[in-house]
Amino acid sequence: MKNKNENKINGTKLTFYGGAQEVTGSNYLLETKSNGQKTKILIDCGLVQGTKISEDKNDDPFLYDPSSVSGLFITHAHLDHIGKVPKLVKDGFRGKIFSTPPTRDFAKLMLVDSLGIMEKEARRDKKKRTIYSESDVERAMSQWEVLDYHQELSLPAAGGGFKINFREAGHIMGSAMVEIENKGKKILFTGDLGNPPNPLLRDMEKVTDIDFLVIESTYGDREHEKLSGAKLKLERTIENTVRKDGVLMIPAFSLERTQKLLFQIDDLVEHGRIPRVPIFLDSPLAIKATKIYKKYQRYYNENAKDIIRSGDELFQFPGLKMTIATEESKAINNVPPPKIIIAGSGMSNGGRIIHHELRYLPDRKNTLLLIGYQAAGSLGRMLQERMKSVRILGETVSVRARVENIRGYSAHPDMNQLFDFVHNTADTVKKVFVVQGEPKSSLFFTQRLRDYLGVNAMVPKIGDSFELNV
Ligand SMILES: [Zn+2]
Repeated sequence: MKNKNENKINGTKLTFYGGAQEVTGSNYLLETKSNGQKTKILIDCGLVQGTKISEDKNDDPFLYDPSSVSGLFITHAHLDHIGKVPKLVKDGFRGKIFSTPPTRDFAKLMLVDSLGIMEKEARRDKKKRTIYSESDVERAMSQWEVLDYHQELSLPAAGGGFKINFREAGHIMGSAMVEIENKGKKILFTGDLGNPPNPLLRDMEKVTDIDFLVIESTYGDREHEKLSGAKLKLERTIENTVRKDGVLMIPAFSLERTQKLLFQIDDLVEHGRIPRVPIFLDSPLAIKATKIYKKYQRYYNENAKDIIRSGDELFQFPGLKMTIATEESKAINNVPPPKIIIAGSGMSNGGRIIHHELRYLPDRKNTLLLIGYQAAGSLGRMLQERMKSVRILGETVSVRARVENIRGYSAHPDMNQLFDFVHNTADTVKKVFVVQGEPKSSLFFTQRLRDYLGVNAMVPKIGDSFELNV
């Protein structure tokens, strides 16, 4: 094996195989030995993503033997946390996969959908194969079991090893932190955390008794605008576009962002705060994800449950049309403005939004509203940076439409919320590993933790191993 400390385990050993000094590709290995038996578990197995859905290095062999791992615990269904699960199975992993029930449903949807995109990218780049096939997804799903929040599990099942609990992370529906107890120490992997208050979901749980913390740092160096401000800006943007008889395009991520947006538009429509115009949800993936949101209403917060109890259907309001078939999508062009089109992908890397952008960006009456992170190199980023002309589907497009930005829909905590999260457990924590952020963000957050809380915090590198015995 590539790891030189491989055989020296006294307590619990943690190794970072992804998500270290990078936002995507989460993959962490925990090993323990008890009664002479060695147990290995993984937390998340995500894709490394850049401007493409899957960077080429995702096809490299794992730096550990997948067949030696007995369990995989999934924090949530974003591809940078689950995208390599079918490859893990293809490469020999035969253990069980555990997640909350919504995460399992979303994962199936996302893995099949991303395979379709990877196939397209592979054809474009003249590559022979994708990193996994449909049968690998099926096999992964057959090994996948559900575990709800606070339903303790022991691995190995006979006990004497890891005790595992999921706790609510409030990031997207079903998202969980993984809390693992071993040899009297508690280790917590936050996965991705939420940005409370969330209009739909309960807030992340407060933790106060963690020994070792592996925490995300997507926005470790930034503050967000408030969600209430986001709603007001959304209302104004819709009103302005309608007044100009224009088209409002919203590139949206299918999981969570789309549902938050629909939830707020629903509220604006039903309270008569915006004029009635046709609103299209033009994304098969987002439509299917929204169905899963409707299926698991027990995961909503009290506010959302109250709205349902009052007889209102979430994500369903006058004017909303969900367009699944390609013909229905094309027919949106025939509907005269004003109209609102919500479509994927969120960074305009592909999906149906680019067809709408090609058609509507040249007209100054129209508006493009960005509500999520736009990676460097993506079309979304170019538009965010107000480029006057862009290339879409081989054509040069003049951008005359207005480009607006709302940051309050972020599904991640900002630097202050992250800081508070660690503050809650500062009395017990022995070491904090700051992960899942760009180096600048992770380092800034780490320094803040050291300076203001006096905790032992660091940013690990890929391949780093630590004995958690302190
Ligand atoms: Zn996420």
